[in-house]
Amino acid sequence: MNKGRLIVFSAPSGCGKGTMLAEILKCENYRCSVSATTREAREGEVNGINYYFISDEEFEQKIRENAFLEYAGYCKHYYGTLISEVDDYLEKGIDVILEIEVQGAMKVMEKRPESVSIFVAPPSVSELRRRLKKRGTESNEVIEERVSEAAGEISLAEKYDYVIVNDALEDAVSDFFAIMRAEKLKAKFSGDIINEVLKNA
Ligand code: 5GP
Repeated sequence: MNKGRLIVFSAPSGCGKGTMLAEILKCENYRCSVSATTREAREGEVNGINYYFISDEEFEQKIRENAFLEYAGYCKHYYGTLISEVDDYLEKGIDVILEIEVQGAMKVMEKRPESVSIFVAPPSVSELRRRLKKRGTESNEVIEERVSEAAGEISLAEKYDYVIVNDALEDAVSDFFAIMRAEKLKAKFSGDIINEVLKNA
């Protein structure tokens, strides 16, 4: 059985990444890794589903234990991918999506060069600001902090394997599946298929 693919999926906050992922995860073979973070849970967020919400001390203890595939600081908080959320699933042939910011994404690309990296960009920075305001979960100050963080992130988009502009949700989701389909057809992953074709030759 082929191993699952590790998918690095980054998008500045407000790019519609959450809605895109909800659509993608309707497809059963994908799993989104649950990260650990030291930020407060937002209303409606559930521990163990959206994130593992832990203290700074707990986070630092996990760093010492080498429990993270990667971790990064973002807007004054820690965020990290737990190895336990990734490798067992890949072994079982499940594709694992890491929804992470750019610093962490670069680390994963370096440590796991076989991963597929996708950056989701907004159609424009002004549209991004409009979406963040509409969401209404953050203060104006936090929104401006996130917009400026986003501009820095977008400038790194070219380091990813693929860029999807999320203008219309349906198109963005179909771009994602097109990427995954092409990735799976890459010759270097076709060992099982070729063996099957050659059987009884
Ligand atoms: P939010 O606070 O909006 O949930 O997430 C803020 C940023 O942290 C987003 O860009 C999100 O992709 C990123 N993030 C979430 N989990 C992780 C993680 O495990 N590692 C890293 N490096 N970034 C993460």
